[in-house]
Amino acid sequence: MKSTLGVMIRKPLIFKCFFFIIFLMHSCDGPSSTPLEAPPSPQISTFRIITSASEGGLITPSQNIQRGQSVSIKATPDEQYQLKEWKGDCGSFSKNDLEVRLTPSRDCEITAIFEKMEASNMSPQIGESETINNKIRIALLVIDFLDTSSHVVFPTVSEIERSLEEGVVLDFFETNSYGNFEYEIISFGPFIHEKNYNDLEEIGDVFKTKSIQINGFKEDDFDVYALIPRTDKKYDGAAASSLFDLHVNHQLIGRNKWKLVNPLFLGDFTNSFVTKDYFIESYPFTSFERIFTHELIHCLDIATHAKSRTNGESYHYQPEIANNGENLSLDYGNQFDIMGGNNYGYNLNVAFRDQLAWVSSTQKTVISKVGRHSVTVYSINDAEKVTTVAIKTPKGDQFYIEYRNFDFWDQRSHLNDSPSIMSNNRQGIMVNWLDAWDTPHLLDMSPSPNYTYQGDHFDVGSPDIRDVVLKPGMTYDSPSVMLSNVTANTDGSYTFTIDVKP
Ligand SMILES: [Zn+2]
Repeated sequence: MKSTLGVMIRKPLIFKCFFFIIFLMHSCDGPSSTPLEAPPSPQISTFRIITSASEGGLITPSQNIQRGQSVSIKATPDEQYQLKEWKGDCGSFSKNDLEVRLTPSRDCEITAIFEKMEASNMSPQIGESETINNKIRIALLVIDFLDTSSHVVFPTVSEIERSLEEGVVLDFFETNSYGNFEYEIISFGPFIHEKNYNDLEEIGDVFKTKSIQINGFKEDDFDVYALIPRTDKKYDGAAASSLFDLHVNHQLIGRNKWKLVNPLFLGDFTNSFVTKDYFIESYPFTSFERIFTHELIHCLDIATHAKSRTNGESYHYQPEIANNGENLSLDYGNQFDIMGGNNYGYNLNVAFRDQLAWVSSTQKTVISKVGRHSVTVYSINDAEKVTTVAIKTPKGDQFYIEYRNFDFWDQRSHLNDSPSIMSNNRQGIMVNWLDAWDTPHLLDMSPSPNYTYQGDHFDVGSPDIRDVVLKPGMTYDSPSVMLSNVTANTDGSYTFTIDVKP
């Protein structure tokens, strides 16, 4: 999906997430890059310039251009961001030029890569701009549909509000933010959508009601809009986007604000409000709560998912094995993460926590100097200790290291293989690698062959990340950094050696 904001486009900010409960996994069609088009035939005299931008800025939209003509492409960094580089096959350009001129002789792609400016890059200070996310106000809008069976009883608007204000979602944000983030919910409705839920073509259509009437409504009172459809019809996923159209009192509500839609289905109703513990698919969350948490994190400007980067039985930096599919950058690949596949755990990785400014400077060790360093890391949920080790290497590789002790948020006791997954991954440190968009990719420190689930429909094997941590006796020796000498301390922490290479 694409939309224009004036003449500029932003990197697509729509994350439609389908949750297939049966297979305990989701797929998602965002954040997708612009699809490649077919190569031009020789007689064609119109060329396509495909533009895209990383997080942190805007670029002139993709466009067609006649042979011999030229066009100017402009990059516009957001506040606190700067242009890091131009990428693509349209030509090579300096990062000092925010506007470049292209005279293409074929289709080409150009991407503006932005980066956060140095001051706020790796060592955010408490009390600076990072506090913007510390407390948000959420407008909760409950929507009913014409085709919902009349005998179905859903939780009331205030019951939904109370469950999000007092329950597991609140606990999750309290723990994962180390007490640095909170939200307030103000609920409205129920409103009646003029359509059947079954007739909606896509989830964003939930927003296309007639204008909602709310007396005294002020757009600026809210940071995030959450639409909760109540329906007993098809299950169609959840989504977060800044581009959904919402009309309140006949006004279009800010297109720069995040909006999420998270349907509350009949199964969720039973799940949430009657037999919560029985429905163990998402324990300790209900599926409604789990998906709400995921989408709300998107709404805090985490515009990607927790990915994995694996290469079968080889390390990720070695030549890619045959039939590795998308596994070098697998969307949702981190199964230990609420922003990933979350089949093995729910904790939000420390890279995202740091991007959200939830990690204070005393909880973080930043390593960037070439040479040998000895570092200690504590459990990811220990707010009093160092939970976050960030490594920035001269070669440009960045890593985030954390330790999971598999307490409450990482317990998935219903999974048959969960005990071994928990005990294996409790024995060392978990390593994430950051791509050019600062998206964390979970690495496998003991690479294992891809494997195929029973009844799997994939053409290629899925990564085996059931045992990923770097344990005592193991060494990770990549071109940019070496990690070794992992030692389990008696207080539950891990000490290890980092060699940053020149
Ligand atoms: Zn998502």
